[in-house]
Amino acid sequence: MNSKWGSIYQELGLEPIINATGSVTALGGSIVAEEVREAMELSNDVYIPMTELEKKVGDEIAKILDVPAAYITSGAGSALTLAAAAFMAGKDDDKIQQLPNTKGMPNKILIQKRQRYWYDRCMEFSGGTLVEIGTEKGTSKNDLINAIDSETACVHYPVYEQDEVDENILSLEEVIEITHSKNKPVSVDAAGQIYPLENFGKYVKMGADFQCIAAKYMGAPHSTGIALGTKDVIDSISRHSFVGYESRRIRGIGRPHKIDRQEIIGVYTAVKRWMGLNHEERLSYEETKTLNIINELSAIDGIKVKIIDNIIGHQPFGLSLNIDSNVYKTNNHDFVELLKNSTPPIWTRVPDGEDSIIIHVFGMNIEQSNIVGKVIKDKLEELKH
Ligand SMILES: *Cc1c(COP(=O)(O)O)cnc(C)c1O
Repeated sequence: MNSKWGSIYQELGLEPIINATGSVTALGGSIVAEEVREAMELSNDVYIPMTELEKKVGDEIAKILDVPAAYITSGAGSALTLAAAAFMAGKDDDKIQQLPNTKGMPNKILIQKRQRYWYDRCMEFSGGTLVEIGTEKGTSKNDLINAIDSETACVHYPVYEQDEVDENILSLEEVIEITHSKNKPVSVDAAGQIYPLENFGKYVKMGADFQCIAAKYMGAPHSTGIALGTKDVIDSISRHSFVGYESRRIRGIGRPHKIDRQEIIGVYTAVKRWMGLNHEERLSYEETKTLNIINELSAIDGIKVKIIDNIIGHQPFGLSLNIDSNVYKTNNHDFVELLKNSTPPIWTRVPDGEDSIIIHVFGMNIEQSNIVGKVIKDKLEELKH
């Protein structure tokens, strides 16, 4: 790491860290890719009517992904909030200005109980209410059929193709079929589903009315996202967006979700880059960083190290680490804290609901992966019983 690494933060008295957690918002999410940065720089010193820019870039991204329509938002979270607004108020300007008061609008956002997840809250910010269907054991077709009524705004469905299929929930195909048979829309959170490339935009092609993508996962600014959907839903979303405050004199709930023209150009460039990227090279780079860490730890007893061989989604490879407390004066949780206090600090975690330390290499370069392996090895040596 060169001598200037992190100096802009050090000037402020802050300590830069090595990110061994992956693309997490708490650490800054992602690094903007070089060609994206250049395009953003070129867009900076020119003004442009934002409504036209949003429309044009949305149309171009829709073409690239072969979906009916697209819209750039301030993160996937914003896309979820705007989509919920669109499903409740549609294109009615009075209703758009009434939100988050949902009186007189369908305002229930249905979600299978077993699919509740961290970001579902974003569906409620424009005034809707999440309503769970089914139980912790599962959801049946009848549960969904009976739950949909005139107050239903949409059925929401998060997708994680890298995880094992949950046999106890309704599949997306089933949800689309049942929900559409009752003339209600389906919303999909596919924030990380950008690889394999055929998954990028797949859920709208399958018939969902809307899906989001988190552009933080593909070299765009961390603060950006993409709404994909039918022409009608994307048109609705655009009417709730920040820019309508001035361009249409309509005060929609999207105003605090403002993004800049540089960001819109950044997302456009990032999508083009992602679709043209040599993904074999990208995957091989991520695998190399992972193996750098694993190889450093290979000869150490009292730990279990396992490669994560997933390549689906936004965060390929990585490893799990388990420390035997009979061999070392530490455990997984304490060791995570200890790494945060090393120099330079290394941030990783035991994710919610897991026992192992999970190390992701998304946020590291090669040199940092070597440091991570070496620091873990050295610290463990010091802690041997
Ligand atoms: C990151 C993420 C979000 C939130 O996206 P932002 O762009 O950070 O707002 C939503 N859903 C899932 C599944 C995510 O991974």
